[in-house]
Amino acid sequence: MHPVDALRRTAFLLERSQAPAHRAGAFRRAALVLAALDDAELDRRVREGALTELPGIGPRTASVATEAAEGGVPAYLADLERAAAPAPLEPAVQALRAALRGDLHAHTDWSDGGSPVEEMAATAAELGHEYLAITDHSPRLRVASGLSSARLGRQLDLLELLRGPLEPFALLSGIEVDITEDGGLDGDSDLLDRLDVVVASVHSQLGGRSSAEAMTARMLAAVADPRVDVLGHCTGRLVTGERGRRPEAPFDAAAVFAACAERGVAVEVNSRPERLDPPRRLLRQAVEAGCLLSIDTDAHAPGQLDWQHLGAARAVECGAEPDQVVNTWPLERLRGWLSRAG
Ligand SMILES: [Zn+2]
Ligand SMILES: [Zn+2]
Repeated sequence: MHPVDALRRTAFLLERSQAPAHRAGAFRRAALVLAALDDAELDRRVREGALTELPGIGPRTASVATEAAEGGVPAYLADLERAAAPAPLEPAVQALRAALRGDLHAHTDWSDGGSPVEEMAATAAELGHEYLAITDHSPRLRVASGLSSARLGRQLDLLELLRGPLEPFALLSGIEVDITEDGGLDGDSDLLDRLDVVVASVHSQLGGRSSAEAMTARMLAAVADPRVDVLGHCTGRLVTGERGRRPEAPFDAAAVFAACAERGVAVEVNSRPERLDPPRRLLRQAVEAGCLLSIDTDAHAPGQLDWQHLGAARAVECGAEPDQVVNTWPLERLRGWLSRAG
């Protein structure tokens, strides 16, 4: 096993198992440092025990790299593979997960994600995805380093450069656009027009700080914008995790889901373990309202791209048909839907 692959795999497993970000981050950084060396230099440093002289390489990352270079599976990685092995999925969940061709909601280190676009794309391809949408935050979300118009423009240039070498894997441009308190979409209108995927989400006045009437009006206004493709984590609830719990924001789900169904906006099934949003009763309601669904990970690190089975399990439980889930569609059909007018 190449040392860089061993470090990437270790980071992936830590991220997938929700280990604290700094633990996976150390392996991500070490992988980048070693990837920048030529093979002769890497071999010499492994032989001489001189990896830890490099900035960003500590004793643990050095031992993983060294054991890999010596031809074995590093002990630390082998332990993780055992401890982090996913439980087998129910057949229907397995079938839906296998039918998912990509992910429409993911963050990179351009906003509050931990890894570069390149690493997110490489990992998505390794997971068997045909495409990944890069949807970093919009400018208003300063705590999450939301992208200014200038930075989003530069990110679009980068995606353009990366596309050719990644083919046939498709890198879709996108944004997770904040829905402002008056129901507008945050950020530059011309840029929104250029993006493949627009996920619109509420990130303020959550947890019951807004009346249901105000929240409903806000969401209806966003869903009515013809550029919006996906309604992100619709209740904004947090069920576990470092940021604590947050109750659902109340809104008129019948009205919002009817608008989504009418406009062809997909209701997101957010797979993050601390979100699992919408809750089951609302997901059932969205399914019954005939809404399209998008099973997304909202990944902030490459290993989190492997959380789609969590959303798939809930979609199956709530009666979703595979064809109702936009990311089961072939890419051409998906692109047709994304570029629909209204
Ligand atoms: Zn969000
Ligand atoms: Zn997000």
